[in-house]
Amino acid sequence: MKKEVAKLKIAIDGPAGAGKSTIARLVAQELGLRYLDTGAMYRAVTLQALNKGTPLQDEAELVRLITSMDLEIVFHQETGANLVFINGKEVTEEIRKPEVSDHVSLVSSHAKVREFIVALQKEIGKQGQIVMDGRDIGTVVMPDAKWKFFLQASVEERARRRQRELDQNGHKIDLLDLEEQIRRRDYLDSTREISPLRKAEGAIELDTTSLGISEVVEKVLDLIKEGEQGVQASSCRS
Ligand code: C5P
Repeated sequence: MKKEVAKLKIAIDGPAGAGKSTIARLVAQELGLRYLDTGAMYRAVTLQALNKGTPLQDEAELVRLITSMDLEIVFHQETGANLVFINGKEVTEEIRKPEVSDHVSLVSSHAKVREFIVALQKEIGKQGQIVMDGRDIGTVVMPDAKWKFFLQASVEERARRRQRELDQNGHKIDLLDLEEQIRRRDYLDSTREISPLRKAEGAIELDTTSLGISEVVEKVLDLIKEGEQGVQASSCRS
């Protein structure tokens, strides 16, 4: 399997808490591909802006901040995780804190911020052998990806998942507050002018509300394996 999928590009989009990053990481590991969590890049910029007191409405100031910071995403082969560094300091955990989640959609809505981050993502994606997750991967970052998935889940289930995740990292947040935050991010991410969150043409939609992680991973892998075998069989015949 690993050999046949050597040049694959897999795009996984969907709203916050739909399970994208866990699924993308596990699918990448299973297929021996790299994994890029594109949301981590917008989160890193947001964290840096909050730390530096940069006004989040000010696009020009944010661009100045981005061009002056050294943002590094290191793919950790063994775990499949993305380690995030700003100016050499690891911030992998810090970018998940609620204050960053509250402000990241505003930061990511600026056209020039996106231009800069999307260019980096396109560069990382161009050799293939990668699974990327985000909001605009199938539509903008890797529109040529052969495999595009759009993960969905109910707001209530997504809030429960986020609560469990935050709990494990020592953050206690009320479930209703999380639902509210997720609704707000969904709204901002899907109504912004530049690259809004939407299902790419031809993307396979999966509702993960009542599915466990391993079930979704299995579904995604089965679809890819079937599709790739189909391609192999028809190229053998030609
Ligand atoms: O994936 P995650 O929830 O960590 O992403 C954080 C935020 O980054 C999203 O709510 C969205 O505003 C932004 N984002 C984006 N485009 C992407 C990935 C994330 O606008 N490709």
